[in-house]
Amino acid sequence: MEYLIVGAGLSGATIARILAEKGNKVTVIDKRATIGGNVYDYIDENGIRIQLYGPHIFHTNDASAFEFLSRFTEWEKYEHRVLGNIKGKLVPVPFNLTSLFELFDTEKAETIKDILTSEIGIDKKVPIMQLKKHENSVIREFAEFVFQNVFYKYTLKQWGFKPQELGEDVMNRVPVYISYEDRYFTDTYQYMPVNGFTDLVNNMLNHENITVKLSTDAKNIIEIKDYKLYVYDEKYEGKVVYTGCLDELFNYKFGVLPYRSLKFKFETKNKSSFQKAAVVNYNTSKKYTRISEFSKFACKPQQKTVIVKEFSKQFNELKDIPYYPIPKKENFEFYQKYYDEAQKVENLYLLGRLANYKYINMDIAVKNAIDLSENI
Ligand code: FAD
Ligand code: UDP
Repeated sequence: MEYLIVGAGLSGATIARILAEKGNKVTVIDKRATIGGNVYDYIDENGIRIQLYGPHIFHTNDASAFEFLSRFTEWEKYEHRVLGNIKGKLVPVPFNLTSLFELFDTEKAETIKDILTSEIGIDKKVPIMQLKKHENSVIREFAEFVFQNVFYKYTLKQWGFKPQELGEDVMNRVPVYISYEDRYFTDTYQYMPVNGFTDLVNNMLNHENITVKLSTDAKNIIEIKDYKLYVYDEKYEGKVVYTGCLDELFNYKFGVLPYRSLKFKFETKNKSSFQKAAVVNYNTSKKYTRISEFSKFACKPQQKTVIVKEFSKQFNELKDIPYYPIPKKENFEFYQKYYDEAQKVENLYLLGRLANYKYINMDIAVKNAIDLSENI
């Protein structure tokens, strides 16, 4: 069987590899000049691995995704820690008991800690929106403080919406820790690929049954006529796995799907360290959401260091990269129109963060690709 995979990101590369190993002929195209989609990275002139589309850390509890990727890379153990700049103080995020004692006077912090641990328990992770509704008024007051100082402004910057306007899943990604746990993720597997993500994806695509064509935009070669797929004006006899935006595939016939875009401002500093953690979130100040320092991501420190400031922005479909689907109920309903349309097209399969309009991490992208390869 012949397959055309649109997108050489983690989703496209995973399914391409599995289909190729089953003996199929697979062509992977990407409109970018590089492979890897948003996990693309490279080593700069100072020996620092730069992630061009923002900081990416692999973490999962899913053994199948981890084992699959482990065929294509060696890993380096890396546990991610984030500090939040809250009114000028640097405290652990997710908000934990250390953050509590940093931001409240000791007596008040002790009281809140005692109430949290007796009402909820020690070593618990609680979503902020749930904590805000707790029956105990001290907990509610504490939750309101965390909500205002950790989530509210950061979320407004990141999404252009208040936390309450987004699906609860978004805030649930960063629960409040009733413990001294200071890692951003608590998953079983937390690693960085030793030679970077581009190398990992390159190893996946390196197979005799896979042909990769970069700088090739699907919109110039694929056409849908009467719900049938045409590639270079010929009716396509194979199957197409599409990991791009659905509104683009259907020429925006129902309108533009809402995505959120980012602008990255990279700066090279003439010193070996810039900040205290790999990522510092700016929760109550600044226009950018966070600063990431690449030499702190499982890299050896160098004489210079490179940081990136991340600014979130409104998406313009003509010139911006659609980094995030915006997780709001009405957007999912809007997306459903395109999804239903896509279901009518013979031999078209949707995969990945863009085509499925889902805010998913790398592990889920890989897992979804493995699942689709079994059902295609
Ligand atoms: P993408 O990487 O977006 O790949 C889609 C590819 O399709 C792109 O290369 C694009 O150019 C191509 N394409 C689109 N349209 C067309 C077309 N018309 N023709 C040809 N090609 C096309 N996940 C984690 O697990 N850990 C993290 O720390 C993490 N950090 C993140 C930080 C940021 C800033 C962002 C934006 C995401 C982060 N993620 C993280 C999520 C992770 O990036 C995704 O889960 C994963 O990369 C999704 O892969 P994908 O292949 O579905 O999509
Ligand atoms: N968030 C926040 N303050 C923080 C960290 C996260 O308000 O310090 C919110 C914000 O809305 C963000 C969401 O929680 O978009 C999920 O955070 P995560 O770090 O998982 O986002 P990612 O950068 O991985 O997309």
